[in-house]
Amino acid sequence: MPPVIDTEKCTGCGVCIEDCPNEVLVMKDDHSSVSDPDECVECGVCVDNCPEEAITLA
Ligand code: SF4
Ligand code: SF4
Repeated sequence: MPPVIDTEKCTGCGVCIEDCPNEVLVMKDDHSSVSDPDECVECGVCVDNCPEEAITLA
């Protein structure tokens, strides 16, 4: 399952977008958004690196 972004917590810092190895995430309306869910390998990098703990993997 691709990550879920909590837009209430996300500040739009862009760290997860930069750090994702597979370009799954993009900026949309000042928040991170999943653009390519099929490319997510569930590595957890985005979850671990988000400073706001705004990302979860199901
Ligand atoms: S790292 Fe967290 S706070 Fe930053 S853009 Fe991604 S989800 Fe939002
Ligand atoms: S879990 Fe890994 S592959 Fe999936 S969106 Fe996060 S950083 Fe990208």
